[in-house]
Amino acid sequence: MKIKIGKTQYTVSRVPSLEPPIARGRVNYTARTIQIAERSGRPLRKRSVQGMQHTLWHEMVHAMLKDMGSTKERDELFVDELAKRIHQINKQLGVYV
Ligand SMILES: [Zn+2]
Repeated sequence: MKIKIGKTQYTVSRVPSLEPPIARGRVNYTARTIQIAERSGRPLRKRSVQGMQHTLWHEMVHAMLKDMGSTKERDELFVDELAKRIHQINKQLGVYV
């Protein structure tokens, strides 16, 4: 899937797992990719759809803040708390149905 965030088009994909295995997702601003891990943790465990949707929002919030030139881009707590709320709203709107 391709998604445009601000000026940048990202390729979004699911991957079996990431390095380190505890990573759930990754945004690469150079390669313009967002990867979502289907399994994470030590040992690797299958992730829920909800968990992967939240991770996708987490990575997209990073990308939005990067596009905005905001220093908040590196604030993991801020990014995650905002992603959580967007995901919560999307579920109510039925965006994922
Ligand atoms: Zn993050």
